Amino acid sequence: MKAREGAGPAAGAAAVPITIRGLRKTYGSQVALDHVDLDVASGEFLTLLGPSGSGKTTLLMALAGFIRPDAGSLKFGDAEVVRMPPHRRNVGMVFQNYALFPHLDVAANVAYPLKLRRVPASEIERRVDAALALVQLGGYGARRVHELSGGQRQRVALARAIVFEPRIVLMDEPLSALDRQLRERMQIELRELHEQLGMTTIYVTHDQREALTMSDRIAVIAGGRVMQIDTPRRLYDHPANRFVAEFIGESTLLEVDTRDGGCTCAGVPIATAAPAPAGRALLLMLRPERVRVGDGERRDGHNVLEARVTDVIYQGDTFLVQAALADGRRIAARGIASGGALGRVPQAGEVAAFGFSAEDAVLIPREAA
Ligand code: ADP
Ligand code: MG
Repeated sequence: MKAREGAGPAAGAAAVPITIRGLRKTYGSQVALDHVDLDVASGEFLTLLGPSGSGKTTLLMALAGFIRPDAGSLKFGDAEVVRMPPHRRNVGMVFQNYALFPHLDVAANVAYPLKLRRVPASEIERRVDAALALVQLGGYGARRVHELSGGQRQRVALARAIVFEPRIVLMDEPLSALDRQLRERMQIELRELHEQLGMTTIYVTHDQREALTMSDRIAVIAGGRVMQIDTPRRLYDHPANRFVAEFIGESTLLEVDTRDGGCTCAGVPIATAAPAPAGRALLLMLRPERVRVGDGERRDGHNVLEARVTDVIYQGDTFLVQAALADGRRIAARGIASGGALGRVPQAGEVAAFGFSAEDAVLIPREAA
């Protein structure tokens, strides 16, 4: 985790850590959160990443106080907040659909949380101006909401979420209504804003690339449970289980035999970065961009699997090469054609060497723990 300091001009309220223990929420027989434990460091940018229906919104709503969990504890700093009403939690929120007041102008939208808190009018004006400047909407105070683009509306929502200097900011898919280019620009802007303000931030997305781009750490959620919590790099390089390996990035997963302490795949010995843990069924995980194709791969001490190329797919920036091992199992390699992983683009039908280093041969448990 990168250490960050909230040293920007608007950094005011101290950030706090969040401690979640045994959080459970059910809707009838539907388990939305299943004993969630999570620690978010003070000032950290943590992303909840998971498929639709995995419980991300439920967890944010429980943090904000709009949902009362069935069981568990929620602490902001040392304070237990699980029974505290939402308005006392001092949490800023941004939702997917802006949720701005359409009949108010931009300044009045941003001023709203300050009015609720009975901040004096002169102070409100100063803080609204500062918040709008932070989200690069200085001078837009008198605009009507309907005169703004989607990206501008989401910036207003953000200004409204931070104007009262909350210790914690929660964002639920705030960029998912925007087109790709704007979304990518806003990802960087949100990151920079977080670096300036330093509040503890929990961000929700179902978009793995967005999560990898923005986060100090990512908690992968599925079925109301935290599958893994780690830095983007660790998650990608060392997924804790099959679900994480398949949800983040592309992966080839091959069953291996590790009964005698070594590791073999289809009878071929495989050198791996870490020794195989005993007593568990394992899968060999290979990231396609770390697999190289070509005769040059047949060298001593290097892992090679022979496979017949089934498809060569041109995807602009890279080629994706799909192939079948002798027993029919699939392997993939991705690379740029010249100077990259594919020295020469192979042809469908040919048998080629798919090579990978021991460091890139990662063993993961076949079943989720
Ligand atoms: P996500 O935000 O990850 O898409 P949610 O937290 O919205 O997931 O939902 C988690 C699970 O809880 C889903 O199965 C969803 O159908 C269920 N759920 C959420 N809200 C309600 C509700 N108000 N009533 C019944 N079921 C709900
Ligand atoms: Mg949701």
